[in-house]
Amino acid sequence: MGITMRHLFQPSVTLQYPDEREELPPGARAQLYVNIDDCIGCNLCARACPVNCIDIETVKATDDVDLGKTSTGNPKRFWLTRFNIDMAKCMYCDLCVHPCPTECITMVPEYEYSEFDRTNFVYHFSNLSPEMVAEVKDKAEEEAERKKREKEEMMRKKAEEKKKKELEEKKRAAEEEAKKESETKDDDSENRNSENDDKE
Ligand code: SF4
Ligand code: SF4
Repeated sequence: MGITMRHLFQPSVTLQYPDEREELPPGARAQLYVNIDDCIGCNLCARACPVNCIDIETVKATDDVDLGKTSTGNPKRFWLTRFNIDMAKCMYCDLCVHPCPTECITMVPEYEYSEFDRTNFVYHFSNLSPEMVAEVKDKAEEEAERKKREKEEMMRKKAEEKKKKELEEKKRAAEEEAKKESETKDDDSENRNSENDDKE
């Protein structure tokens, strides 16, 4: 009875959710957010994730494109053609947040994101349209093909030059050998002549 009476006159601790909401403390793990403009596509977050719920696809920017720098000053060299996080798989371990060199993947204090359809838990952070993705992929493939051809051509030229040098060296060696042989023959015939002279 005493306990009941004491609680009766204490202020209530019940929160009238959803009219009232508790503020999450700093560092609370709730929902992941990626500031894609600051992402350099290094894949470190995806590699750190123990449940593989981060799916990143990057395409190297071609030489004629400057993607600029992140707000932290890191140069951007890749198009992010896909950056998906499946929040249905995420276990809020925070391991993906710490390795990020540009601090662009963070936990935000948002916990009200329930869905009826599980596929809605896959968050898409890439800001490229499908047309843009196709275009950058085509350009990257063309450039990779051109660079491959240039490299092959350079290798072919190098191999040709090497072969030419080897042939020249062989020719020089053969000429030196022939010269030595003819000098030896000359010496022999001179020796024979002097021997004949002695006998006479
Ligand atoms: S919080 Fe953990 S489980 Fe969730 S995406 Fe990051 S590393 Fe993966
Ligand atoms: S670690 Fe950061 S910069 Fe690297 S891919 Fe992930 S979000 Fe982008």
